[in-house]
Amino acid sequence: MPTESLAAPARALPSLLGTTPQEITDLVASLGEPGFRAKQIIEWTYAKRATSIEAMSSLSKPLRQALAERYVARSMSIAKVTGSEDTTRKFLLKLNDGRYIETVLIPANPALYGGDSDRRTLCVSSQVGCAYDCKFCASGLAGFTRNLTAAEIVEQIVLVEAHVGERVDNLVFMGMGEPLANYSNLIKAIEILNAEWGIGIGARHMTVSTSGLAPQIKKLADFPLQIRLAISLHGASDDVRSKIMPVNQKHDLAELFDALQTWRSKRKQHMTLEYILIKDVNDMIAQAHLLAKRARSIHAKVNLIPYNTVEGLDWERPSEAQQDAFRDVLLAAGVTATLRREKGHDIAAACGQLRLMQETSEGIIQSPVPAKRITIGAGAL
Ligand code: SF4
Repeated sequence: MPTESLAAPARALPSLLGTTPQEITDLVASLGEPGFRAKQIIEWTYAKRATSIEAMSSLSKPLRQALAERYVARSMSIAKVTGSEDTTRKFLLKLNDGRYIETVLIPANPALYGGDSDRRTLCVSSQVGCAYDCKFCASGLAGFTRNLTAAEIVEQIVLVEAHVGERVDNLVFMGMGEPLANYSNLIKAIEILNAEWGIGIGARHMTVSTSGLAPQIKKLADFPLQIRLAISLHGASDDVRSKIMPVNQKHDLAELFDALQTWRSKRKQHMTLEYILIKDVNDMIAQAHLLAKRARSIHAKVNLIPYNTVEGLDWERPSEAQQDAFRDVLLAAGVTATLRREKGHDIAAACGQLRLMQETSEGIIQSPVPAKRITIGAGAL
């Protein structure tokens, strides 16, 4: 854990990892320091990844002191790591207000994870808790607490890279929270993550996954960076989708697909529709035909994810024959569809669970939920 040995004020300060060159230039000017100091601070922060302001040795002591009165180099710490190096590792991160979030590292392992998995992928959180209450997900179980700042989003990548000693080269905003409900902080974080002076991850290697906030999808369609979009669909008709995703009552499929058409008309990259297959809830062949029609209408590919059955739960995983039959309808309709059955995804699919258990054990939240639902989270898959 980093130390800040310069005298630091008592209140929680933001991390430098959310700052832009312009903000630091303005700060440096307001302190009466020469302009080149801003470049040095940005380099210490992003290129050199200084873990304390004191370590920024090319800055004068008074400037470091002035910085330390306003910022910290790190605002959060790794509280727990689960999983293993060659499968998926989940990081429980403690924020500076005592709350927790999760970040999941999926290793480069095409044999295990299929198709595009030749990259090291990090599944990033965007909020503490979530207001959207998707019925398969632990992240929303204790409700919404707060948005993450841009710095807290960026810091997830920096902490994990430092821990594993390797760079992350693919990001999915699929962890805790609905990223498009934290729009301005998400955009700022993506800009920092993409910038050459920042973290330097290509925009095409960032995917924002949403439960379907149609107005924000339209807004994001005008964002200049070529990020990718994934939609947690999980139902191809309103009656089925509303059972799984309450957000559908606010933004129904007609509104959602209108927004996706807007996205498609303005962007080159294909979209991805995520679809968790749940026995007798959304795995009917009639849903597969409807899904194929919807996917074709926006030239989207489909990721099918069989639901992970947990003893005592109402929902079940469909048989492999039913999973295959569902996928085959999509393939026959000319839709690119993948079916991921690997157990390795279980840890990623339990997004929100670790944080819920930790916060409950510390008394931060009151045992929020029926215990059986704590075991089934899925982030924004
Ligand atoms: S799946 Fe995503 S949007 Fe839905 S409750 Fe979970 S974190 Fe929120």
